[in-house]
Amino acid sequence: MDWDEFSDWGKYVADWSATYHKTLADRPVRAQTKPGEIAAQLPDTPPNNGEEMTAIMADFENIVMPGMTHWQHPRFFAYFPANASPPSMIAEMLVNTVAAQCMLWQTSPAATEVEGVMIDWLRQALDLPDHFTGVIQDSASSATLSAVLTMRERSVGFTGNRDGLSGKGNLRIYCSDQVHSSIDRACWIAGIGQENLIKIPTVGPNFSIDVEALKQAIANDRANGHVPAGIVAITGGTSIGACDELAPVLQVAKDEDLYTHLDAAWAGSAMICPEFRQEFWDGVGGFDSIVFNPHKWMGAQFDCSVQFLADPTAQLNTLKIEPEYLKTSGEAVTNYSEWTIPLGRRFRALKIWFLIRSYGLDGLRTRIRNHVLWAKEACEKIREIDGFEITTDPILSLFSFRCPGDDDAQQKLTDAINEDGRIYLTLTLHQGQKVIRLQVGQFDTTQEQVLLAADVIKDVWEKTR
Ligand code: PLP
Repeated sequence: MDWDEFSDWGKYVADWSATYHKTLADRPVRAQTKPGEIAAQLPDTPPNNGEEMTAIMADFENIVMPGMTHWQHPRFFAYFPANASPPSMIAEMLVNTVAAQCMLWQTSPAATEVEGVMIDWLRQALDLPDHFTGVIQDSASSATLSAVLTMRERSVGFTGNRDGLSGKGNLRIYCSDQVHSSIDRACWIAGIGQENLIKIPTVGPNFSIDVEALKQAIANDRANGHVPAGIVAITGGTSIGACDELAPVLQVAKDEDLYTHLDAAWAGSAMICPEFRQEFWDGVGGFDSIVFNPHKWMGAQFDCSVQFLADPTAQLNTLKIEPEYLKTSGEAVTNYSEWTIPLGRRFRALKIWFLIRSYGLDGLRTRIRNHVLWAKEACEKIREIDGFEITTDPILSLFSFRCPGDDDAQQKLTDAINEDGRIYLTLTLHQGQKVIRLQVGQFDTTQEQVLLAADVIKDVWEKTR
């Protein structure tokens, strides 16, 4: 492909993309294909000779697109959103074009410096104290792994990377039973082990970690010769939106000298709205590490996860490695690859810059406020469906419900809804029973589309009961 053809195809794809987004509401939300159906349409062997772009594009439309689930669909209510606002998509196109690998300051100074400023814009937007710095990672899972590795190293005097963990006792990490599985996985990978991730039950309307039980667990562990290393708190758990009360958790960490990490991957975006901070964000400035994903609710195209650090020293002592071939000369600069596990880095800050400049924080706040409001309205409509039960009230824009019947009935209704295609929902397990989750958060959804969810649920329920 020469650059003139690239230019033609680039224009074609820009038009295709706009049409795709404008007509998304007419498509089923979840892909309606069976396992193996897409792969069966692809040749078993790669072509020896180049093919025309027209043929490649036609196959993309005819083979690939039917197998896509539409995450930007206005009636996507499953999981959490992965929003792609148009300006952030434009920024990604530019990043793809320049295609820089931004591991060190000198490998693209602008990428490092825009990243530093975007971290600070977001710090202000989330009302974090001004000593916080941070780094952009690919995912919350990577940020949490970085924090758990830091907990590990700090608890063994930063000797684990050098000596291994043998003979260092059982390092213990504490969290509630509502955290995301990325915390478990971080403990596996960090050599902590599942058995040493101590999950504490929750209490209260927001399913906050039981602080007395947390204190007791730490005391028992110390009495048994284990080594407490850190606490992972949650603001906005994936299952039903659980939020820990942050200040009491931080007090325990302070008393016990433990490193703290807060997973606010989803709900962090909502903290740009001051009215949510009193209930969900009080005391947040005391954490050592905080992760939130602008690629979820805020609108920065996937992937984009921000890890704030009160002081990066402990994480740098854990992750920084500087072989001769990566050393640079001259003035001291920030090399963000020293703060994270992968060396190679995309220029993710650009899409945050485009996003915030295009909408302003107020434009983003309006969307989030609407989502929270419309989730409450949809919840009330579902409560009115005969025999339905709201199992957890909205926490921000996420709630859960059950239709009449046992767990199989919940599964059957969810499958039928997703096969119907007008909306997309997912299930979780809450207090030992299956519940259906509904979150509102798609960037361009409307009140009408959200309220339609309740009508679709009722309609499918009546047809399939
Ligand atoms: N934490 C929470 C609360 C989540 O909901 C998720 C994913 O949905 C994650 C962490 C993992 O996020 P990522 O896909 O960025 O690793």
